[in-house]
Amino acid sequence: MTQLALVIDLNVCVGCHACVTSCKEWNSSGWAGPLPDHHPYDADPSGTFFNRVQTYEIGEYPNTETLHFPKSCLHCEEPPCVPVCPTGASYKRPDNGVVLVDYDKCIGCKYCSWACPYGAREFDARQRVMKKCTLCIDRITDTRLPESERKPACVLACPTSARLFGDVHDPDSEVSVAIREQGGYQLMPEWGTNPSNHYLPRRKVRIHIHADELVRADNPLKKEDIVRETGETLDDVAW
Ligand code: SF4
Ligand code: SF4
Repeated sequence: MTQLALVIDLNVCVGCHACVTSCKEWNSSGWAGPLPDHHPYDADPSGTFFNRVQTYEIGEYPNTETLHFPKSCLHCEEPPCVPVCPTGASYKRPDNGVVLVDYDKCIGCKYCSWACPYGAREFDARQRVMKKCTLCIDRITDTRLPESERKPACVLACPTSARLFGDVHDPDSEVSVAIREQGGYQLMPEWGTNPSNHYLPRRKVRIHIHADELVRADNPLKKEDIVRETGETLDDVAW
């Protein structure tokens, strides 16, 4: 069976939230949403998101690092959110493995959000139904789009290509190669959910620059026409 999924490279995610805003925009416009915003410009805004980026500081001061961690539904291969649903609204598509909610069947009981160990489901208080990432099911199955655009909005928007999309059951797919070659891992595998989404770990990069290797370049932007009134060059300025 095909199992579509995201692979997210934590080494290159810069936490810009382009994936969050493009997800919100696309899914508020298509049939798989909408994602409501309540009081968006008031003191107490609230709303539903399919995808959030959580930012953590890790390590101990002064040797700390900032980690940006995008998180959405992981489209588990053994999704505990599906069997708990009393109406069959929560289901996994047999053709591509995407986990979805049928809003017409959902009664808003929230059992699925209690069953999901990742906190990936969000309740739409206005529509009174449960919502979650659909992997942009309305884009990726739209054969009128060129194949290169049949990807989730977040994948297309990411400026650092931190998000890959494809079939994790195809050993030759871009996502499978990335998982295999870059140590891709699942989130909390001990829960037995077998998440389809994977993360690529951060890699330590050390750059050693010695003082005698630094070359000072005056006027690096080649703005030859700009002459300071005082006639000073950069080398004359105290730093
Ligand atoms: Fe279900 Fe949560 Fe897994 Fe998504 S991440 S398939 S909502 S258990
Ligand atoms: Fe099923 Fe909706 Fe209840 Fe979730 S909230 S378990 S999708 S009926």
